[in-house]
Amino acid sequence: MIACLERFVHENETETRAEDDNGRLCRGLELEGSIDYCSTGLASKDFGGMQGGKALALIRPAGAEDIARVVKAAWRSSNLTVAARGNGHSINGQAMTEGGLAIDMRSMDDTNSIKVGRFNNGSAYADVSGGALWGDVLERCVSVYGLAPRSWTDYLDLTVGGTLSNAGVSGQTFRFGPQTSNVSELEVVTGKGDTLVCSDTHNSELFFGVLGGLGQFGIITRARILLQTAPDMVRWIRVVYAEFDDFARDAEILVTRADGQSFDYVEGFAFVNSDDPVNGWPSVPLDPNHFFDPTRVPRSASPVLYCLEVALHYRNGDHPSTVDLVVERMLGGLRFCDGTRLEKDVRYVEFLMRVKEAEEQAKMNGIWDAPHPWLNLLVSSTDIADFDRLVFKNILKHGVGGPMLVYPMLRSKWDDRSSVVLPEREIFYLVALLRFSPPYPKGPPFEEMVAQNREIIQCCINNRFDFKLYLPHYNSELEWKRHFGNQWERFVERKACFDPMAILSPGQKIFSRNP
Ligand code: FAD
Repeated sequence: MIACLERFVHENETETRAEDDNGRLCRGLELEGSIDYCSTGLASKDFGGMQGGKALALIRPAGAEDIARVVKAAWRSSNLTVAARGNGHSINGQAMTEGGLAIDMRSMDDTNSIKVGRFNNGSAYADVSGGALWGDVLERCVSVYGLAPRSWTDYLDLTVGGTLSNAGVSGQTFRFGPQTSNVSELEVVTGKGDTLVCSDTHNSELFFGVLGGLGQFGIITRARILLQTAPDMVRWIRVVYAEFDDFARDAEILVTRADGQSFDYVEGFAFVNSDDPVNGWPSVPLDPNHFFDPTRVPRSASPVLYCLEVALHYRNGDHPSTVDLVVERMLGGLRFCDGTRLEKDVRYVEFLMRVKEAEEQAKMNGIWDAPHPWLNLLVSSTDIADFDRLVFKNILKHGVGGPMLVYPMLRSKWDDRSSVVLPEREIFYLVALLRFSPPYPKGPPFEEMVAQNREIIQCCINNRFDFKLYLPHYNSELEWKRHFGNQWERFVERKACFDPMAILSPGQKIFSRNP
């Protein structure tokens, strides 16, 4: 008993001493930006709303030098960790640091600092801060230069550094690869506090390590993003399928057609064959004036239906009949249910910002700030039909209270030197279960939804599906090892090389801080 008490006193003393030392270290930081000990609440919240981790301080850096100073200070301490916080849109506390230094990357964002340049071959790029929001990059590039990044996420209030640390996927990924395949150079502060510029030819191990590296090897302070000429308009179309096989066949046809022969955007989602306002038929229309007619779907259809969503870019000068002709040619031969086609023409920027409207609605309904136990999976095309049978048609036959995205991408458009791990097959599907339930007791307790996610993952494991978690979240080294598979060794080596004290992004729970 006395021994226990002694240890308790001793441990407490050690902890207090470390806290004092850390406080002194922070006070000694000479930052151009600021350090805030009071508003650390921002860093203990994320979109998932299920985790909390109180940081010692929130740093608002003025530039990469400040970040390097912070990392070097953490290096000198015995236990401090550093978490870059993009826009905090993680689900499971990935951007948090308990008792460490949270870096508010948004404070480095200055839209006017976005610079557009050209490579020798004439193609364009933008140099943007790691803390810039994709929506701001879009607005600036389109309005000032008539240019735009090629590869997107569906929602744009995410930071450049945050999505590049994962992959960044949407309906353009089948053509251009994820956002990590559309960046040619990075400036990074490593876990040793070194500020390095890297690309596929210069410091390439760091470059590829950081892309999809879950924040483990460095903090992205600047990224060079590939651009293309921005179209003016988009023809946005949805068609509905009763059979998963038809939906998957058509989606795969569209994503494997040669460039120029297909749409510019291909996505899809599963929905419930009922009038449920959130999960059912009403989730299909693109516009309040649209009406989805369920009698167009055979009576024999299963409890789950599928919607293919495509978009075609065009310019103001294109004649409407030319656009119609191209659309008809591309939709020709597809097997969707007759009479289910809905479409509308929108400005390109409006199309890319389409989720913003849903965000505003969700904020009004109180479901934006409720917990979001989301699950994202990448499932091989060889297993997606079984996944549909066992998961969509069975476990999720009543929906998830939000979109259930399912659409294919091509492995060959991803760079396997990056840190992202993928299913084995060339074609694999993103499955995103985007739960938007009202907070308990109006909606189910989030623990119930987390348990359902676990059931789905277990189902994939039990059936030996070729799959990976996207935006992965695990608690044990064993699970992380299984996630990375034969890439685990490379991931560990990169960690030893660029962040040997395991200072960075502790919220991912992959490595523990070395004392
Ligand atoms: P944070 O959550 O703040 O950080 C994520 C991780 O990256 C943390 O580990 C953090 O430490 C690290 N990090 C942050 N900034 C940096 C940096 N500059 N350098 C190094 N590491 C850094 N993803 C898609 O791919 N496609 C989508 O369509 C999509 N839609 C989404 C819609 C919504 C509403 C939400 C909430 C998420 C969506 N996501 C999507 C997921 C999103 O890409 C990830 O959650 C991403 O990490 C969020 O970016 P963030 O800036 O908020 O990062």
